[in-house]
Amino acid sequence: MPELPEVETIRRQLEPDLCGRRFEAVEVLDPYFAKPASAGALESAASGRSVIDVGRRGKYLVFELDDGNSLVIHLRMTGSITLLAPDGTASPGDARIHAPGDPEKHLKARFTLDDGGEMLFADPRRFGRGFIAGPEALEAYFDSRLGVEPLSPDFTVEAMAAMSAGRTGPLKSFLLNQKGVAGVGNIYADEALFRAGLHPLSPGGSMKPEHHRALRDGVVEALQRGLDLGGASIDDYRDARGDTGSMQNEFLVHRREGEACPRCGEKIVRIVVGGRSTYFCPACQKRLRRRPRRLARQGGPGRS
Ligand SMILES: [Zn+2]
Repeated sequence: MPELPEVETIRRQLEPDLCGRRFEAVEVLDPYFAKPASAGALESAASGRSVIDVGRRGKYLVFELDDGNSLVIHLRMTGSITLLAPDGTASPGDARIHAPGDPEKHLKARFTLDDGGEMLFADPRRFGRGFIAGPEALEAYFDSRLGVEPLSPDFTVEAMAAMSAGRTGPLKSFLLNQKGVAGVGNIYADEALFRAGLHPLSPGGSMKPEHHRALRDGVVEALQRGLDLGGASIDDYRDARGDTGSMQNEFLVHRREGEACPRCGEKIVRIVVGGRSTYFCPACQKRLRRRPRRLARQGGPGRS
């Protein structure tokens, strides 16, 4: 599943080519894409509108339109966006290059641009979604689902401390919860915990101030590394140019079960946390114990 670095990579590629362009025609080929709205409602709301900005919130792409509404697209598991040049060919340096696969395969929505180019949304697994929302509805939508943007100045050590306080669930699950830190998924949660030296099963509320700082820094560094490498291409991820990222070659622990820890040489272990494969170094990543106060509230250490 594309996470923040993958979605941000796509956003950066789309922005220069899409801003100022008008959606001449919009065709929703699979009604699932527009659910719960109708395909026709999405088509008529986006057709004829110009794109004035391409933004991102968490793992959502936000195409701001000239009537004040936004077209929002979530790629989910396997969605992809491809930009095609007007003549369907690619010129050197042009972001709009045919994907190596066939973007017409699994095509769910086609946005024809006013210069004859196209933005295609394809998805083999039908989970990807698009919808139109006005500014207030969009703010409410994101506020109810997403927490702090980890690459923004709002993601402070204090913010990390506040959002993790009292949490009894494992740190891995804490990082995957989009209402805490937005945009982190399975890959970058593992990489961030390794960078922070924290065991994925440590309870969120067990962190001390030094751990809040280490985890905040670990999240930022892992995401930034992913961005620098154009995202991670496992499964189906391709960027808007149809290229693969290279973060998957640079994983420190994710998907490296049995390999040597890059820091200490110990074998990397895989466990399942909340149904998700989780990779960590048992020597470098410290398992924190619950805070005494919390144990007391649950009946004391003797009761376990
Ligand atoms: Zn290690």
